[in-house]
Amino acid sequence: MNEEVVGHRAQRRYLQQLLERGRLPSTMLLNGPAGVGKYLVARELAYALLCENGEYGGCEHCKSCALLAANNHPDLHLIEVANSSESSVASLRALLTVLQLRSFYGGARVVILRDADQLTSQAANLLLKSLEEPGARTYFLLTATNSTQLPATVLSRCQAWFFEGLSAEEIASVICRREMVLPAELSLEDAVVLADGSLENLDGLAAFVDAWKLLGISLDRVHAGDPLAIPVICKLLSSHKEQTSQILALIRILARQRMLHSLKTGAPSTRWAILLQNAIIAERLISTRNLNTQYVAHCLLSALLPNCAPQIDTIPRSHITLDQYVV
Ligand SMILES: [Zn+2]
Repeated sequence: MNEEVVGHRAQRRYLQQLLERGRLPSTMLLNGPAGVGKYLVARELAYALLCENGEYGGCEHCKSCALLAANNHPDLHLIEVANSSESSVASLRALLTVLQLRSFYGGARVVILRDADQLTSQAANLLLKSLEEPGARTYFLLTATNSTQLPATVLSRCQAWFFEGLSAEEIASVICRREMVLPAELSLEDAVVLADGSLENLDGLAAFVDAWKLLGISLDRVHAGDPLAIPVICKLLSSHKEQTSQILALIRILARQRMLHSLKTGAPSTRWAILLQNAIIAERLISTRNLNTQYVAHCLLSALLPNCAPQIDTIPRSHITLDQYVV
């Protein structure tokens, strides 16, 4: 099972050391972007806690490891919070009742709350007491993509760990190890960039190849001074309403790629840097506020034109951010 976990070596080594010294916190929050492997790290730690031989990630030989491999260990409770029936108040009440009894095998017990940031406030409140005092050898491992959505009362009870996106080398190694067949028009280098550090993105590459190509061409046109390419991107956003955040992420990735390339070749990079900064802000604003996507896209892309839109001409370029447009 260790082979499935990619990257995050520092965090995993530290977790192992804490476990070996008997200092592992009983309630932890594994926070970071989607698809970087937070759940796999939590599962690896659960194996370590439940393996009869105490081997980090499991020994694969003992009875506990066999039960874990079969997803059938009675002392490992996985709650997929995104699945409303698993995270319903009734289901969580039933789990808390089980946790009041002794563990099935007399050892540790692990509760993994996957996507804990999607807990309803009622469900989160129900868990508060257990998160604070989980009971002997009971561990709560929460994973979250956006920990700011968790109630402060939950956050204050967890030791938080942050997980970054996977490196380009790590993503490339997964592509090679899985012997993934990439879409014909996508190079390995482009696939790594497009994955943006996330295995989840890697799995969904094919769905975004066309958008990636169109965005690349259109952004280059805007950068060269063609305002007619802006409506093309706005249209792409309106035709992918459910994937607004993914399209904005593609714009961010392309802006970063173009900026780094410009820096390397000595070409003008300032407007790419501004687009990168604005795309990061746009992703955050879109996920937290109910904004008009078309308006945000217009603001974002206008600043990429060589002659900025009239309303921002008076603002020094280095200080332009999307926050200043969208108030
Ligand atoms: Zn084992």
